[in-house]
Amino acid sequence: MSLEPSSHPDQLSPETVAVVAGRPAREHDAAVNPPIVLSSTYVGTGQVVDGDRAYGRYSNPTWDPLEEALSELEGATLPSLVFSSGLAAVSAALSLIPVGGVLVMPRHSYQGALVMAQEQTAKGLFTLRTVDIANNDDVIAALTGAGEKAADMLWLESPTNPMLEVADLRVLCRSAKAVGALVVTDNTFSTPLVQKPLELGSDIVLHSVTKYLAGHSDVILGALITSDGELRRTLLHYRSIHGAIAGPFEAWLALRGLRTLALRVERAQDSAMTLAKRLDLHDGVEKVLFPGLDSDPGHERAKAQMLGFGSILCVQVAGGEAAANALVEALRLWTPATSLGGVESLIERRRRHANEPDSVPVNLLRLSVGIENVEDLWNDLSQALAHAAGKR
Ligand SMILES: *Cc1c(COP(=O)(O)O)cnc(C)c1O
Repeated sequence: MSLEPSSHPDQLSPETVAVVAGRPAREHDAAVNPPIVLSSTYVGTGQVVDGDRAYGRYSNPTWDPLEEALSELEGATLPSLVFSSGLAAVSAALSLIPVGGVLVMPRHSYQGALVMAQEQTAKGLFTLRTVDIANNDDVIAALTGAGEKAADMLWLESPTNPMLEVADLRVLCRSAKAVGALVVTDNTFSTPLVQKPLELGSDIVLHSVTKYLAGHSDVILGALITSDGELRRTLLHYRSIHGAIAGPFEAWLALRGLRTLALRVERAQDSAMTLAKRLDLHDGVEKVLFPGLDSDPGHERAKAQMLGFGSILCVQVAGGEAAANALVEALRLWTPATSLGGVESLIERRRRHANEPDSVPVNLLRLSVGIENVEDLWNDLSQALAHAAGKR
């Protein structure tokens, strides 16, 4: 089931791949878009063999073009695997850790992934070592185990959620290889247009397709991408047996959203940079976390491994939790909501979630910059900052 080159020439740029990947063959009167196939089972006679569709939990033709497009974008040689959510993909990836094994994970990993790992640790399935992922020495010590068992899996997320710490992906992937640990990289924040973890040494890339890839806040979906046939077979088996599969409509919507990925990412990144610079100069803001700023501790590393700096930025509001809440409530254009990566700009105070680690400041707001006009976004922030200043 290797990836057949599509009918388009090789060496297309990623912006073009997002538009052309997974199209039906060009035949007279063929549809330009792949259809949605609603069928729970498939006609078959004789022995079921590998690659047969057989049943709707194993495969669906609507998944194929999306799976092909995602792996082309990440530079993988095998089709990706879509899951019912990003966390379903996390669950499949964590299943690769042997019982009694060791997982090394950033302490500011996506909250759901961290909770899942902690719960599995509490059950005695494996040992969890959380680290400051921006600190190479810290991560390497956790990988080698310093006298204890070496790691079986390194989980990478960069920039992290919500602290936007930047991991040294090349060095950490090499260090993981040296101890025989598998590397899984959650690339949700960056998208394959900005960061390519497989090229940097990761074995598996994970996406919450819910976010930038689908891009319109109307789908929950996840994906795993790898070029390793053995790993892919194991993960495909896990998906077939555990059953967290994508609905055909969601898969279709995600591919539809993916077509405009490059334009959305480009606009959102530009606006995020503009807003980060202005917020950094504002006296209502204590601190801006954004790897795009020269002063950010992750700036040089981000430049060395990313094409741009993404469009998530965080601010610590002067005046603490009350001022941060007042700012959010005064906004008219920005939507107060969790999630990120959609066309609309979202903002949230992360510590409003009970599970958020204490190391995330109470006055920290996470901003997911959308594709609206940047001056409209700024004007709204600026009036809300003035309002929040009144609450200090
Ligand atoms: C949202 C998110 C997830 C989980 O994805 P769902 O689609 O919500 O299940 C995982 N990792 C990151 C970085 C995310 O932002």
